[in-house]
Amino acid sequence: MCGKPLLTLSYAFGEQLGQYSGRIKSTAELDEMQSNFGEYLVRVVEVCTSCRWNFMIRSFVLGDGVYRRPPRRQKTVEDIYG
Ligand SMILES: [Zn+2]
Repeated sequence: MCGKPLLTLSYAFGEQLGQYSGRIKSTAELDEMQSNFGEYLVRVVEVCTSCRWNFMIRSFVLGDGVYRRPPRRQKTVEDIYG
């Protein structure tokens, strides 16, 4: 740790999220996802943007328990221009 202020970020993981698994989500987005996905894991991580130090504070499972198929993969900028 270098002593710079830490950011607290939430990441969502899950098979039902498809390619969106592993993205950073805001609290509002996580709330909205509750009614759109059956199950996903949230990892809350403290991150230093300066030295990349990171520490997982907690993780928990959210979702409404109803299984959804993962969304069809969308082409990303990386696919097209990468
Ligand atoms: Zn740091």
